[in-house]
Amino acid sequence: MKKSIIAALVGASFAIGGPVHAGVTTADIEKDATTPGDILSWGMGTEGQRYSPLSKITTKNIKDLVPAWSFSFGGEKQRGQESQPLIVGGKMFVTASYSRLFAIDAKTGAELWQYEHRLPDGIMPCCDVVNRGAAVFDNLVIFSTLDAQLVALDQDSGKVVWKEKSDDYAAGYSSTAAPIIAKGLLLTGLSGGEFGVVGRVDARDPKTGKLVWTRPTVEGHMGYKFDAAGNKTENGISGTANKTWPGDLWKTGGAATWMGGSYDPKTGLAYFGAGNPSPWNSHLRPGDNLYSCSTVAIDVATGQIKWYFQNTPNDGWDYDGTNEFVTFDSGGKRLGGKADRNGFFYVLDANTGKFEKGFPFVKKITWAKGLDKDGKPIYDPANRPGDPSKSADGKKGEVVFAAPSFLGGKNQMPMAYSPDTGYFYVPANEWGMEIWNEPVSYKKGAAYLGAGFTIKTVDDKYIGALRAIDPKTGKIEWEITNNAPLWGGVLTTKGGLVFWGTPEGFLKAADAKTGKEVWSFNVGTGIVAPPITWEQDGEQYIGVAAGWGGAVPLWGGDVAKRVNMLNQGGSMWVFKLHKS
Ligand code: CA
Ligand code: CA
Repeated sequence: MKKSIIAALVGASFAIGGPVHAGVTTADIEKDATTPGDILSWGMGTEGQRYSPLSKITTKNIKDLVPAWSFSFGGEKQRGQESQPLIVGGKMFVTASYSRLFAIDAKTGAELWQYEHRLPDGIMPCCDVVNRGAAVFDNLVIFSTLDAQLVALDQDSGKVVWKEKSDDYAAGYSSTAAPIIAKGLLLTGLSGGEFGVVGRVDARDPKTGKLVWTRPTVEGHMGYKFDAAGNKTENGISGTANKTWPGDLWKTGGAATWMGGSYDPKTGLAYFGAGNPSPWNSHLRPGDNLYSCSTVAIDVATGQIKWYFQNTPNDGWDYDGTNEFVTFDSGGKRLGGKADRNGFFYVLDANTGKFEKGFPFVKKITWAKGLDKDGKPIYDPANRPGDPSKSADGKKGEVVFAAPSFLGGKNQMPMAYSPDTGYFYVPANEWGMEIWNEPVSYKKGAAYLGAGFTIKTVDDKYIGALRAIDPKTGKIEWEITNNAPLWGGVLTTKGGLVFWGTPEGFLKAADAKTGKEVWSFNVGTGIVAPPITWEQDGEQYIGVAAGWGGAVPLWGGDVAKRVNMLNQGGSMWVFKLHKS
């Protein structure tokens, strides 16, 4: 009430502290990418392009980009900070490690409130205690927690408005992805592919948290829809039971949707990536094991799978297909690009899933000889880890060297797409692994791999490489290499810039056309989160969460040793042009 009076007095939608929002609407979210005064979705637009139309900061004046403020997430709890902040009405909402959420004055860095979720003992996040961001709807800010819950907080007070359990953390479910809003529904994914969970996408009423539909991403499981009273009715099986899975393995089949999804209002489809099939030992589950390692396009209105595209059928390397599917216009078509963990970049028709083009975006791929005309991998059977049941003692299959490593040609760090250059900016990594299979059986709440591994470097000079890739040609137009693996995301702007962070602690910018590095700043701890930009009171701001962690120090083998000097942290950094 008070705010709306102030807004009326100044005669516009601006008041002290920034633009006033009466409440975030579906329409606001659908045009998020074109409104630089706010950031209302993970991906800076639900399509996930991470492109800003702002051009106040350019290749020419970026030398004057200096810190505006820094904010500590505090506490003894640090670890990986993989979050993309949101900006609503001059407030920043940023999640942090250990299921925390901070509301900060976006202009001054002053804390407004903080929320710390009470986590039980016994949570089982596979890959650090991270969180990748929140969703906003109406007066709420909503995020997922490591014990597989969803929490909706009042944007002004930080008070809990609703809390819902997604699933059972004791069975290995957890949640780290940013939820998205599509057609007025809150869409969420789940983590736990290393524990034999069943991946799915849930749609909820964002105002109440009540379920509207669920769609499993393991073939054979029933989908459901729910009425306003919470009564559940069947909404069709995903695929056909036992078509691509032997025996009962589909019941604990993985395909976790742990990265969350993107949504394109032009197609009405939400695109969720599904992770590895469980267990990792592929000899136990002959078949394609749908919809593991796939992009799954879901009609948001019905909760049905409209199409899927499987990147790695019968995966034997943990090549989770969870990477973001980013839609864009090209040659009169609506297409989607995906830099898959398996090392290939895929371009698909966003309406139908038809394969348009595929090409490697990393230099070393051993597990496949290439892609066929339909985009299916041409396997090299000699490079699949061996079947332990065929070994002399039945306990360990043949060890193979595979590239990329299971941490992928690309992992959770989201890429960006610039409609100005027509390039995708992909944070890629060059590494491999020794991998072998072992016998395993499912036990609730226990790791369900049937595999062992050691990650190896493949190049003495670098692991990470930020690559500008032309999706029309498959050509790498430029690259900037990095000693440590890249683990943060990318931002690109109308100002002709690309921003990204490094584990060594540098937030960097390069000319989007040429790849010439034009700016860097050391934030004092590794960056594993995607940068953002927004405009407030006529000034363009750049922000990034900082804090080294994530999967690399936990699982990185020889690579973890190479980066073990890097320090943890937990802070938010914001920059703007210095006024002389
Ligand atoms: Ca916006
Ligand atoms: Ca996995």
